[in-house]
Amino acid sequence: MPDKAPSASGFQFELTGGTPCFDFANTVDSRCAPKQRVDNLTGFTALTSWARQSGVVSARKASELTRAAKEQSDAAGRVFRKAVELRETIYRVFSVIAGGGRPSEQDLLLLGSYAQEAFSHMHLIAGGSGFEWSLDQRSRDSLMTLLWPIANSAVDLLVCGDLAKVRECAADNCGWLFMDRSRNQSRRWCDMKICGNREKVRRHRRAVSGTQATT
Ligand SMILES: [Zn+2]
Repeated sequence: MPDKAPSASGFQFELTGGTPCFDFANTVDSRCAPKQRVDNLTGFTALTSWARQSGVVSARKASELTRAAKEQSDAAGRVFRKAVELRETIYRVFSVIAGGGRPSEQDLLLLGSYAQEAFSHMHLIAGGSGFEWSLDQRSRDSLMTLLWPIANSAVDLLVCGDLAKVRECAADNCGWLFMDRSRNQSRRWCDMKICGNREKVRRHRRAVSGTQATT
């Protein structure tokens, strides 16, 4: 969870979650500390920028959708609100799983509805070396195409991913999600350089003040 000032354009998102749905959930800094919380998903432009940086859409597609959004500002606003709803649902579902619990039925229904919508716009095609799902022609210009790969990423992880590797950063204020792919399954921080080091400093201060209190 880095210290950065958000801006709609030129902002570099951190992509340390190990899966697009977690990188998307991690577009909020200090999620668990209401007074420090910073939402880096500031609007449709930031959403498009995140999608391009994370690779869920190509740079060309991102430019096309940015142009389309300027001509459909109401639709862009609706898609942005849905993006935030999807992101918060992903966070709740996987935060509960990281803590060993079961997500609510309501959140699963909501997440499933995004994936169902995505699936209804796909068709099966023969690719170069096999078969693949592809967006149907009439849906390619829809602003919602930004959200469908994110929803698919979350549902794929739920249905066939390794949920034992789902973690939430151990820092009190952070709330970032990640896949723990460390060899001994011991990763505790979203990023050792940021939250891990802060915690070390905190522990050191506590230890020093404890020593002083007893002398
Ligand atoms: Zn963290």
